Amino acid sequence: MSPDPTNLAALLAKQIEQTGPISVADFMRAANEAYYGKGDPLGTSGDFITAPEISQMFGELIGLWLTDMWIRAGRPDDCVYVELGPGRGTLAADALRSMRQFGFAPHAHFVETSEALRQLQSNAVPGAQFSSTVDDLPDDVPLLIVANEFFDALPVRQMVSTHAGWRERVVVRNQGMKFMATPGMHPMDELVPPEFRNAPSPSIYETCPAASAIMYELAGRISSQGGAMLIADYGYTMPGIGSTLQAVRAHQFADPFENPGHHDLTAHVNFVELANLARMRHLRVNGPVEQGEWLKALGIDARAQSLCTNQPEKAQQILAARERLVEPAGMGSLFKILGISSEEWPEPEGFGASQSLG
Ligand code: SAH
Repeated sequence: MSPDPTNLAALLAKQIEQTGPISVADFMRAANEAYYGKGDPLGTSGDFITAPEISQMFGELIGLWLTDMWIRAGRPDDCVYVELGPGRGTLAADALRSMRQFGFAPHAHFVETSEALRQLQSNAVPGAQFSSTVDDLPDDVPLLIVANEFFDALPVRQMVSTHAGWRERVVVRNQGMKFMATPGMHPMDELVPPEFRNAPSPSIYETCPAASAIMYELAGRISSQGGAMLIADYGYTMPGIGSTLQAVRAHQFADPFENPGHHDLTAHVNFVELANLARMRHLRVNGPVEQGEWLKALGIDARAQSLCTNQPEKAQQILAARERLVEPAGMGSLFKILGISSEEWPEPEGFGASQSLG
């Protein structure tokens, strides 16, 4: 069971006192386990809001993309819908509903560590199966995998340059129950790519070993079992120097090293790394493209119009949600979509070659 957020600071303080500083990655893992374990952080009254919570159109268009892949792959009847970190289950419910309209009703399998969120997800998608890791996914059927704002919640490791070379960035107790990050003791130069090694002190180089491990496993599954994957997140297509670790609470940024377990810790996703891992498994990689472009290519404008026609009284709200998802001032440019698919499956929709950022 994940620790109660109210006890986490004391637990971490004790651990640091007894066994020494912990890595930024261990701190982030513990903080997010406690944070997501306690319940529902999403929605307008929660700490942050995600695309599926803004509008049903997001999940519906993802469902449409998956259905199109499935139809052109010859309608294999044993595909499984997989979602990583489904939050409230809203995206899955919207996607599966739009898939059923085309006669596609795959079994749903959710990878989720939070017991509290599993409960909400079960309500949204009755009959869904759960596992805590991707290792427990079925291993003999094609997988259609969706991950929205999942990879950004995984713990990042940080290296920091000092006058004595690169060190792992570790967390120590500051005063009382307060924490701060500082360079650790052991040399870590070899873990930093040569092009960044001479960066002035104190520079930070970030990696996400958990994201790489999950991606490598899923890419292997898609390669041998067939299927496709959509990743939607904020992230970068040019690795660089700098910390992207941030804390968000009640829609405001906070100090990531204060109040562990009380706010969401995220880091930007390294799309180049995810794409390269898929290529290593001989998969087709499309994008990443900007979320706004992808949603437009999939027909969000037509979908918004038809929703407005059906519910004229909600037209303003529907158009505002469309704008938030698509326009650069909202989530349209910051968020990217990466498509990954088996070479034996059809070329996916929505990724015009000229739009690729990678
Ligand atoms: N996809 C949802 C929620 C995003 S929040 C949405 O778009 O609304 C991140 C989600 O990932 C939560 O459901 C959280 O409990 C889950 N999560 C975080 N770390 C995880 C891990 N290591 N394994 C499985 N699920 C995780």
